[in-house]
Amino acid sequence: MIALLLAASVVAVTFDDLPNLDSDLPAATQRVITTKLLDQIKSTGVPVIGFVNEDKLDDDDTSPLTQWLDAGADLGNHTYSHLDLDHATAAQYEEDVLHGEELTRPLVESRGKKLQWFRHPYLDTGNTIETRNEVDAFLAAHGYRVAPVTIDDSEWIYDMAYDHAPWWKRAALRRSYIRYMERRFVFAEEMSRLVFKRNIAQILLLHASALNADTFPRLVAMMRRRGYRFVTIDEATLDDAYATPEVWQAFVRDAYHSPTVVWGRDVNLLLAGLSEAILTADATTGPLKRCFLMKLISRKPITAAGRKPTITLVTRRRS
Ligand SMILES: [Zn+2]
Repeated sequence: MIALLLAASVVAVTFDDLPNLDSDLPAATQRVITTKLLDQIKSTGVPVIGFVNEDKLDDDDTSPLTQWLDAGADLGNHTYSHLDLDHATAAQYEEDVLHGEELTRPLVESRGKKLQWFRHPYLDTGNTIETRNEVDAFLAAHGYRVAPVTIDDSEWIYDMAYDHAPWWKRAALRRSYIRYMERRFVFAEEMSRLVFKRNIAQILLLHASALNADTFPRLVAMMRRRGYRFVTIDEATLDDAYATPEVWQAFVRDAYHSPTVVWGRDVNLLLAGLSEAILTADATTGPLKRCFLMKLISRKPITAAGRKPTITLVTRRRS
């Protein structure tokens, strides 16, 4: 947690549409692309998660998913048929979510892992707030967390062009792709600074494709050049930017402790609790406790036995 807070820039890499972006590939071709992509991912040591559409598995052959798990990747649910919530009822969608975990869940759990991440196809969360709220509640009730995306680059257009390009055009496409992706990073970083005044933990959306199999180390080199360290989606979402609406609401008039500061959410909540305790200490437990609490969160570093503090908790009294 502390390491995450101190890092300049972090990114979580996610892949959608497993086993492969192209839904019509035979199992043998799926395996070839999957093997190459996972070999490249493993060579970089980058942690990844892949979101599965089970209807793309050829004859329910789960071997591509086993390959992802063997490579150390996490898996998430992306609905069975890549259903668009903007064009389906909540009931149809929920059925597709459950259908989409029938093969993946036992595979993931057989590795001692949890199937906990869900990503909406097309990132569509419904046409009405009621639909979104209903599906959100359904997902939460089934133990799912919605996987956010901050760098949604429509890179699948490049993927498809690459699949159909003659071999002599492919090298130029690969170079163009890396340049394009770097521009998407620049854009995401600018948006992040505009909204949060800092570069939040970014979450990159890619697809399981031949293009990414052929370029992944170069993509990783580009991100490293920009100062990124690679984290899991679990770690990235510890960033305050992904705090729940309730947390944001709690700090709406408190810019100092709000989720826009670099502190971790847990630290903010701790400070908020301590501040509240100070405000009520006089009336309930007397000045001694108030004095203790003020010391605990004073602007001066907390020192003990001459040791330098590793972290300084600061706050200010609310008026
Ligand atoms: Zn998708």
